[in-house]
Amino acid sequence: MVILKSPINRLAKVGPKYQELLQKLEIYTVEDMLYHFPFRYDDFSVIKKIDEITEGETVTIRAELLDVKNIFTKYGKRITRAVVNDESGKLIIIWFNQHYLSKILIPTNTYSFSGRVGAISGKLAMVAPSFEEYRPGSLNTGRLVPVYQETAGITSKWLRSRINDLLFNIGSIPEYLPLEIINKYNFDVFDIAIRKFHFPQNLAEVDHAKKRFAFEEFFLELLRVESRRSQWSLKDKGIELKIDPSKLENFITQLPFKLTPSQQTAIQKITIELASQTPMNILLEGDVGSGKTIVAVLAAYVTYLNGYKTLYLAPTEILANQHFDTFKKYLSSHNINVELQTGSTKPKGEWDILIGTHSLLFNEADQKTALVIIDEQHRFGVEQRAKILNIKSENKVPHLLTMTATPIPRTLALTLYGDLSIAQLKEHPNINKRITTKVVTDKNRQETYKWIKQRGEQAFVVCPLIDTSDKESLENVKAAQTEFLALQAGILEGVSVGLLHGRMKAIEKEAVIKQFRSKEIQVLVSTPVIEVGIDIPDASIIVIESAERYGLASLHQLRGRVGRGDKEGFCFVFMSNNSRKAYERLKYLENIDSGIELAEIDLKMRGYGDLYGTLQHGFKNFKVADLSDLETLEKAKLDAQNFFPKLNGYPTLKEKLEIDSKLVGNN
Ligand code: ADP
Ligand code: MG
Repeated sequence: MVILKSPINRLAKVGPKYQELLQKLEIYTVEDMLYHFPFRYDDFSVIKKIDEITEGETVTIRAELLDVKNIFTKYGKRITRAVVNDESGKLIIIWFNQHYLSKILIPTNTYSFSGRVGAISGKLAMVAPSFEEYRPGSLNTGRLVPVYQETAGITSKWLRSRINDLLFNIGSIPEYLPLEIINKYNFDVFDIAIRKFHFPQNLAEVDHAKKRFAFEEFFLELLRVESRRSQWSLKDKGIELKIDPSKLENFITQLPFKLTPSQQTAIQKITIELASQTPMNILLEGDVGSGKTIVAVLAAYVTYLNGYKTLYLAPTEILANQHFDTFKKYLSSHNINVELQTGSTKPKGEWDILIGTHSLLFNEADQKTALVIIDEQHRFGVEQRAKILNIKSENKVPHLLTMTATPIPRTLALTLYGDLSIAQLKEHPNINKRITTKVVTDKNRQETYKWIKQRGEQAFVVCPLIDTSDKESLENVKAAQTEFLALQAGILEGVSVGLLHGRMKAIEKEAVIKQFRSKEIQVLVSTPVIEVGIDIPDASIIVIESAERYGLASLHQLRGRVGRGDKEGFCFVFMSNNSRKAYERLKYLENIDSGIELAEIDLKMRGYGDLYGTLQHGFKNFKVADLSDLETLEKAKLDAQNFFPKLNGYPTLKEKLEIDSKLVGNN
């Protein structure tokens, strides 16, 4: 019998080869296959007779195949040409470069053909339609046809047929959401919703099914949040890290700058929570360049003074290296041991503060770790804490400080993770170091590069793609590798140009950054993924290519890489097309200097896509649920809080969540 948790190869026609291919779509079990939802539908539901069709419409016809043959045109095109016939008339159908079709299509058989009606030499014809042998209950023609995310070797057509067989054979699938919920919101039960989502009669059915699955995603996730929260808060205590305020004050006065008011507030908040028995969980939000690092340094210093250790997790090795230097700069004179651990470096001795990448979490727990800092991190709150639960000192949980430059709306953070504290760095330390920003049209591109060459200062050139063979490579979108070669041989001849992108090895990247830092490289061409937090004080110019492809908040983060030292910063925003709308949007960068404000403009102009696109990475990857749908989120939150304590009364739901029964009911 097929059950939801069965491995996918239990299904007929899914052998080892398909099993492997399906892994690319993250389909491992029968259940995963059902949850591989269509992302759109081809509307082939209009069925017409051949004499009723008109040019330009999308239809399905049912007709007998009279004849099929392969033709080479005089321009070398390979065409398959078929003639079909129903009781109303004849029609020509052609396909390009698919000569094998002439072997598959069998004259005198009846087929359904779905697609757009075009014209060939003035006569109506169908070009490259979908087709299948005609039988009642067709999957690929004559209806709303689901289209799925595919991968090499797995087509939507194949998925349709497997999912359809599965739904036919599996019988009625039991519901696992509480009936109270189904009734309260008038949802379809699972068995109905899943069938409608894959093979709907109309789009209203899809909408209705989606409502259920969107709710379900939030609800299940929020039940997990409840579970982790109960796990965290009941059993665990934090280590009380107290501080003599004068010692902190002393340290602060020795800094080369004066703290901004919100840095001060953040530090105050942190010292209070570090001193408490409840483990700290603070999210420090602050624009690029708002000075988050020094706040982290101070938290680590407090921890050190209490005789405990700090782990500092950076998203990449390059940033780990950079923070290692910063921490040493501030702390070595206080006799504090700062050490680095990356793929290529191991700590050289005892440490008070260990800086590294996320792999630090897999270290054997050090008994004295009382603070974990996670930098430039898009995952927030509970999820992280669940991981660091393993690192316990004296059976107590370390405090957690998460730092991010992503502006997360407060309501969203609080709804998802109610017990997270938020601290914000609102102002930039040095207000008069604004980065002069110019949106540059194509005709001024050469001019701009000449200016950069003349100025002779260090510059970044950021391109969205790595090389032009990238699948997104469109006509004018710039690729780092190509641009690197072009600039070097062209307008920047004689200037030392470097290249940095995500596909290079860690040591290669490190070497390039080092050269850039030591000014052996003057202009660094890179992809944007590289490093949000990279700090090269002498780089004063940044060119952003194909800028229309980014949200304003992301562009703002990118330009934050320059103007960090004493030099005046410049940002040149290049576009790869002439869109008026994009130009007007980008123009906001010239006058607005706040990441949050820019994120709000994006929100108004482009909808939630950009902001929540970034956030989606951070939170769980929801397939159907939309993080901007705060109403559904709120409802799911209340229901999760209500149902979590009585979860033992809902065994199928609990099984779905795979939550340990020990955790339930004692909240
Ligand atoms: P981010 O928030 O992006 O991580 P950083 O911590 O890297 O920002 O700080 C950016 C730059 O600002 C660093 O060079 C840092 O030394 C400097 N800085 C931080 N705080 C202040 C301050 N209060 N006054 C002046 N400069 C500061
Ligand atoms: Mg930073």
